[in-house]
Amino acid sequence: LSIEQLLGINKFIVDEEAAHIVLNKEICAVCAGKPCTVACPAGLYTLKDGKISFDYAGCLECGTCRVICPQAGAINWQYPRGGFGINYRYG
Ligand code: SF4
Repeated sequence: LSIEQLLGINKFIVDEEAAHIVLNKEICAVCAGKPCTVACPAGLYTLKDGKISFDYAGCLECGTCRVICPQAGAINWQYPRGGFGINYRYG
């Protein structure tokens, strides 16, 4: 199976009331490298007209963006509330 097919097997229960990752778009705007746009394995960070577009639905909860972000305070990252988030199903 391809990576995309494996990711498609997972089940996501999206918390529509409380995002577990919130970006400070003002800080993101001054980030030169924007490494999240290439490091997120789920491809949730994309560039549109030079600005970061992000959707927390589909997050694998790997923490890569939290670790790799060079801008302090740009990413407010928490695990989803109980009962929400990813259920891995490829094992
Ligand atoms: Fe992407 Fe991982 Fe960050 Fe989720 S935690 S948005 S999958 S890099």
